[in-house]
Amino acid sequence: MKIAVFNTKSYDREYLDKYNEQAGHRLVYFEAPLNRHTVNLTQGYEGVCVFVNDIIDRETIKGLAENGVRIIALRCAGFNNVDLAATSEYNIRVVRVPAYSPQAVAEHAVALILTLNRKTHKAYSRVRENNFSLERLVGFDLYGKTVGVIGTGQIGIAFCKIMLGFGCTVFASDLYESPGLKQLGVVYRPFEEVLKLSDIISLHCPLTPDTYHLIDQNAFSRMKDGVMVINTSRGALINTKDAISALKKKKLGYLGIDVYEEEEKLFFNDLSESIIQDDEISRLMTFPNVLITAHQAFFTREALAGIASTTIQNLTDFEKGVTLINEINKNKI
Ligand code: NAD
Repeated sequence: MKIAVFNTKSYDREYLDKYNEQAGHRLVYFEAPLNRHTVNLTQGYEGVCVFVNDIIDRETIKGLAENGVRIIALRCAGFNNVDLAATSEYNIRVVRVPAYSPQAVAEHAVALILTLNRKTHKAYSRVRENNFSLERLVGFDLYGKTVGVIGTGQIGIAFCKIMLGFGCTVFASDLYESPGLKQLGVVYRPFEEVLKLSDIISLHCPLTPDTYHLIDQNAFSRMKDGVMVINTSRGALINTKDAISALKKKKLGYLGIDVYEEEEKLFFNDLSESIIQDDEISRLMTFPNVLITAHQAFFTREALAGIASTTIQNLTDFEKGVTLINEINKNKI
């Protein structure tokens, strides 16, 4: 099949080409994102392959349908960027990669916690300038602390297990409880209670209309003073303005984010010679207790291989007309 692959970087091309060797799809790579302004590039393609920040809204989907596109293959698990009502209306199938390496994301969440806590990023810069002072590098023991986990799906489960290994008490909130986690000692509590009890809160639920701005001024007010909040899920789970206000009031003691509400204008690009127009991320970057990474939690060799192999398999299954095990549509959610 002839597939237009959007939003691609060198690493996407390397892994997709490798796993496409046998399948033999005609993959044409575009660096541009797919959205209503670039949808005209899809003329003559049977499918498109997209990532987290491509905006597959109704207008884009209408354009895809007019151009003859019949399948959208997401190279990610989350699908908050696709209007599934419109894809079913225009009869376009949507497939995703439901799991590639939950460990990759869970381990990155832990990296954010450890870096914010023990300030290794600051120590690295200091020592390279012959500054061997320990002033202002003091952290805290993770052992014995209480960790709150919002969302115990595949990533949340992996994260809970790591934190149990550190000797933390783990409370969780989810619409569905995991019996396996309960057996390991994780205790489920209502969302508000998890906020109240936790020294560290890590978000692992998807972005849906119900979870949009889940962490806002009201949620911050329920948390412990000096709490650490980690978000490796989707930016809009946190109201950025409210997070800035909580940081200024010292309610929020540490913020570690791999995702950001307005990230599609920034992340995955080298903007080092540009003037950043987003004042909120600029403000966040001024806080000494904020750590931002640019949506790299998934970025391991294992995850890239998993994403590429599942994406190619999804396309091959569609071409052969067999059951699409990774299909998503509005009725299945
Ligand atoms: P999953 O579907 O396995 O788990 C999500 C869990 O969240 C489910 O158990 C679900 O019941 C729960 N949930 C839904 N609404 C909730 C709510 N209101 N409160 C509490 N829990 C709720 O998904 P996953 O594979 O664990 O991934 C979680 C999220 O991580 C994805 O949706 C995606 O946004 C994000 N993600 C980020 C990266 C990255 O690189 N930063 C990579 C992969 C996934």
